[in-house]
Parts: sequence; C-alpha cells; structure tokens
Amino acid sequence: MPGIVIVGAGHAAVQLVTSLRQDGYDGDLTIIGDEPHLPYQRPPLSKTYMKHGEAERLLLKAESFFETNRITLLAGTRVVAIDREARQAITAPGTHIDYDHLVLATGAQNVRPPLTGAHHPAILELRTLAHAEAIRARLARTGKAIVIGGGFIGLEFAAMAAGEGVSSTIVEAGPRLMARAVSPLISDSFLDYHRSLGNEVLLDAPASEIVGTREDLIESVRLADGRVLSGDLVLLAAGVRPNTDLAEQAGIACRNGILVDGRLATDDPRISAIGDCASVLTIDGIHQRLESVQAATDQARHLSRRLAKGDEAGGYHAVPWFWSDQGELKLQIAGLASDADGFEDRRGAGTARTIVGFRGDHLVSVETINAAGDHMAARRLLALPQPLTRQRLSDSAYDLRALAKSQG
Ligand code: FAD
Repeated sequence: MPGIVIVGAGHAAVQLVTSLRQDGYDGDLTIIGDEPHLPYQRPPLSKTYMKHGEAERLLLKAESFFETNRITLLAGTRVVAIDREARQAITAPGTHIDYDHLVLATGAQNVRPPLTGAHHPAILELRTLAHAEAIRARLARTGKAIVIGGGFIGLEFAAMAAGEGVSSTIVEAGPRLMARAVSPLISDSFLDYHRSLGNEVLLDAPASEIVGTREDLIESVRLADGRVLSGDLVLLAAGVRPNTDLAEQAGIACRNGILVDGRLATDDPRISAIGDCASVLTIDGIHQRLESVQAATDQARHLSRRLAKGDEAGGYHAVPWFWSDQGELKLQIAGLASDADGFEDRRGAGTARTIVGFRGDHLVSVETINAAGDHMAARRLLALPQPLTRQRLSDSAYDLRALAKSQG
C-alpha cells in the first residue's frame, strides 16, 4: 500500500509521523532523508553540541520508535524527482516509491553570497551534523575565528567559541545584528554582549573576498572597504534559502518557498509542504515562510489532522516563537518583532529584559532575554482572539504574567 511518503527527515517529518500515528492514521508511512543518520535536532549544533560532541544526544527519536510505529526510514537516500502522474518519488539510485500523499519537508540550505572565493573548500558552514563535526575538529586548532554574517547561527557559534577561549571577528554587511528577526534594542544588547565576550563585531562591513591558496586553509578575508582580516577558521553564516528544487522541477508553484494554502497543500492536492521549505498562506492573506522548530512542528500537527482525520476546518495559524542561546543570554521571541512598528523596553532584575512590540495600538511581539516566565505568558497573550492594546498593557504595568493569569 503506498500511504504517505515524506521527503526530508528533519523536525517537520518526525513530528508529522508522530502526530499521524497519534491521530489514528494506520496506513504506511515512509520518510526519505538524504542525511545518513537517524533524524536529529539542529538547534544544539550551534549551542551545546559544540561542547559535548555526542551525536546520540541530538536524536529526535530512538531507532526503536520507527520500528514500533511501522515507519520506514530510508536514511542516506536522496529524492531526485517526483512523477506526479504516476504518484511516485524517485530516489537517486533510481527506485520509484509510490505514494497516496507526498509531503515535502526538505528544509533549507545555507546560501553562498556572491563574493570571490565563496566556494573555497576550507570555508566552514553550519547546517548539518557533518558540518558541526567539521567545526568541532577545527575549533580545537583555532586561536581566532572569522564569522561572516551576524545572524543567529554566526552569533551562537561566536558565543560558544568564546566560551572555549576562541575569539571571533564577526562581520555583518548590514547596520545591525540579527536584523531580519529582532528589534534594534535586542540587536544593540547582543552587540554589547559579544563585545564583552571579547568578540570583535564589524557592522556595515560586507566581505568581498575570501583568500586561500591552499585547499585546507583560508589566509584572509577582505572586506569591501579594503580591510583585511586573518583567522584560523572562517565560518560562512550568511543566511539560508529553502530547498525548493524538487518541487520546482515537478512544476509546483514556489516563491521563496513551496507555496501552500492554509491547509498546507500545494497546488497539487496530493502534495503538501511543511517546515523551513514551505511558504504558508496566513489568515492575513499573505505567504509567510519561517525557519523555526515551532513552525515545523506546529505545521506538522496541523497537516496530520487533515491527513489522518480529514479535518479541513480552519487554516493554519499558530503564534510563532523562537529562541537563541548565546553564552549567558537566552533570547526568546514570541510573535514576530519584524511586524512591530514601535517597542516598549522593560528591564528586569540582572540581565533580564522584556521588549514589547506593537503594530499601531496592538501587541504583536514580545522579545525577552533571560525572562522565560514573560516569554511563556506572551505566547498565551498573543494567542488571544482579540489582540491586546497598548492601554491594557500599560494599565497592567506591563506585567505579562499577571495578565496571562487573568485570562484564566
Ligand atoms: P530540516 O530540519 O532542515 O530537515 C530537512 C531535511 O531534508 C534535511 O535533512 C535535508 O538534508 C533533507 N532533504 C532536503 N532535500 C532532500 C531530498 N531531495 N531528498 C531527501 N532528503 C532531503 N530553530 C529554532 O526554532 N531555534 C533555534 O535555536 C534554532 N537553532 C538552529 C541552529 C542551527 C545550527 C540550525 C542549522 C538551525 C537552527 N534552527 C533553530 C532552525 C531549525 O533547526 C529549523 O527551522 C528546523 O530544522 C526545520 O525543520 P525542517 O524539518 O523543516 O527542516
């Protein structure tokens, strides 16, 4: 029996098979993933994994889970084409795998910006366990690192490396850190924090050339303004792009991600897409693609209800949330700070900080540093059917926890 076939074996795929069995789906389930390992968590790769180096601690599920739940896991197998007419996924060795329903959960890949030398083999990147292992091995021989890109992954690496006694120069092309996802107040806090760790941060500093004459060594990184940096390790962390090639070749509509409606269906009713690769139609009528464990898992749960129970009611909607651990600072974001046009900054005890974002009069985001209670409260408050107003928050003296409690 063909059943449901999932391409990609990451967070979205594992949550989907888990939910499908919980929701009573009894048919065949197959996951096809091109990485050779059992499915694992990516977030620790730039955080705790660098310290402990134990791959088995990353596993999303033990091997026995797949057997017990009758899930066929084809690891180390790449899907190279989809035959929509025959309803088959075609793998690199040429095997044709039948499906009733195909789910694309192919994730994203790192981008290589158009700078000279961007494909030098000694440049390190971080997306997979294999990348993390390569970085760990190199870190042991590194005195100084150069990180190209001041986003979450580059900064998490730099904070972790500082903890291991390796300082970094972080070069960011834009005017502030993590600019796509956080408020200027958070960017500034993390700028100060990284500098306090001994990391050098250069803003408005696009790299223009990576120079390496030997296969295994980068000699220097040249910036557009002519400055030349040297280090023993170069990490390129300049953003990601969704893995849409397979969908595009199969004629499925894509635009910064595989386009899906609120049911997470592509323009082929037999094919859905979830996770980092999917651009989802929101209740506001726009397509939105998020790169987070929360989006991957919530979308998987939503899709499961349709595939297992035929539940077509309601489009996908969930409060986005995200976290980033950098040294002693735990950043948590509920909602999207990029939606806000104004911020209110509340400082708590020690390093704790809560930044509330508004769009017009309505609460749209809460960013916290070392304030997990506020983050959890914010997730509840942002899920209310009516958005909270500035006045309401001000009346409560911005006590998010009390406000959340008062909602019952
Ligand atoms: P993935 O987990 O990327 O899985 C997709 C899989 O599909 C990959 O294994 C890929 O190789 C495979 N694949 C692609 N094409 C094919 C094909 N044709 N055939 C077979 N297999 C294929 N998110 C957070 O919320 N918080 C964090 O702190 C955080 N930290 C992160 C740190 C790092 C270093 C990285 C890399 C990511 C981090 N993320 C974090 C993002 C988070 O890991 C992703 O949002 C999440 O993994 C998305 O899950 P996914 O299943 O959509 O994709």
